[in-house]
Amino acid sequence: MSVARLNLSHGSLDQHRESVTIIKRVSERLGIPIGTMVDVPGIKYRTGPLGTGTLRLEPGDTITLTSRDIVGTKDLVSVAPEGIHLDAVPGKQVLLDDGLLELRVASVQGQDVVCEVIRGGRLTERRGVATPGSSSTHTFPDPRAIEALEFAAEQNADFVAISNVTAADDIIAARNILAENGLEACIIAKIERSEALEHLDSILEVSDSLMVARGDMGVEVRLARVPVIQKQLIARCNEAGKPAITATQMLESMVLAPVPTRAEVADVANAVFDGTDAVMLSGETSVGKFPIEAVRMMAEVAVEAEAALPYERMIVEKRDQLQSQTDDAISYDACQTAQQLGAALIVAFTESGSSAGRVSKYRPMPPVLALTPSRRVQRRLTLFWGVTPVTIPKVHTVDEFFEVGERMAAMKGGASPGSVVVLVAGLPIGVRGSTNLLRVLTIPLSDQAPTLC
Ligand code: PEP
Repeated sequence: MSVARLNLSHGSLDQHRESVTIIKRVSERLGIPIGTMVDVPGIKYRTGPLGTGTLRLEPGDTITLTSRDIVGTKDLVSVAPEGIHLDAVPGKQVLLDDGLLELRVASVQGQDVVCEVIRGGRLTERRGVATPGSSSTHTFPDPRAIEALEFAAEQNADFVAISNVTAADDIIAARNILAENGLEACIIAKIERSEALEHLDSILEVSDSLMVARGDMGVEVRLARVPVIQKQLIARCNEAGKPAITATQMLESMVLAPVPTRAEVADVANAVFDGTDAVMLSGETSVGKFPIEAVRMMAEVAVEAEAALPYERMIVEKRDQLQSQTDDAISYDACQTAQQLGAALIVAFTESGSSAGRVSKYRPMPPVLALTPSRRVQRRLTLFWGVTPVTIPKVHTVDEFFEVGERMAAMKGGASPGSVVVLVAGLPIGVRGSTNLLRVLTIPLSDQAPTLC
């Protein structure tokens, strides 16, 4: 794994603090950078307490959902936080438990929503309640989201994911709260609501990354549309050079079984073929019985799929995404040169992470070794496709670039003597977006000096 997500919709802040301590300790011990992502909860309606703990709903039954704080009975169930009566619209759907049960709103009477059961099933406490297609009366950020953002700042999180984003303003508001609390954050917009799809351009512009949050999206839009939206969102991220994360139910059956279904394996591979930077596990690793097997399986499938990507065609097609900027041109050329020469590795010197991110955008065939003096940048680069981030002491001169690049290519990038390595860097050193230097070298055979081309 490269990033650990702390989903603040569940558990206490103290539990999450403990998880961050463990992540840092293990990452240090293994010498493997692990990014931490704080996932800020959105407003999600959930069923309240039930007198019997569970209910069986049959098609044709009448059930009333209420904003009142009561203990539920056979035909009256409370929904919290307050507000379902403001969002429900007569004649429209209400979905329970991530869409497993379906109701139709008959009428809204004060704080009560009277519904007819269309698709029945078992209903328990704290199940999600959704009103697809209707705008929520709750606005971002609510007190719970503010608490989560403050927690992200306190823990110096590398990534902050925002749930239920509806517009660019949500991301801007989150960024401001984080800044007030001293965190310059890398913000991931979770795309799960239809309003977010309507405002995608502006949301992508102010976000650092998007998450295809298929769980809630599958309730909000017709399920059959989810794979199409996944492809579109990933393509938009790829064009913008921002990482895309594909999430939810990727290996769902591994919550209970040690081996996934064939369809799940194909889903992970297809997300890689779509161009995703990251694939994410949720229940499989948070409550599943086989968390280690799930991570191993996902990594194995991703590696296999990446090896099968049509790199030669991809580099040609990605020419269309070139911007007329020096850093973009150099990054693209580094990938093309590496491919043409059969290079073993691309080494990117990167102080802010932007050089390595731009190289990753063009999906080179060889791996990208990102060398940075910043531990924070190293952790942030864990999200980018094909990048292995490593920290090095600060480099001051061009000669040092080449000397350190050659040494690290052999030590950390596995480049063997005689292999070709492509280096990219920016001068003046330390200026963001200054990628303007491309060099090819051959790792010397034992006691030879490196050959610079
Ligand atoms: C999702 O809905 O797919 C998602 C990733 O969000 P959460 O895990 O918070 O439900």
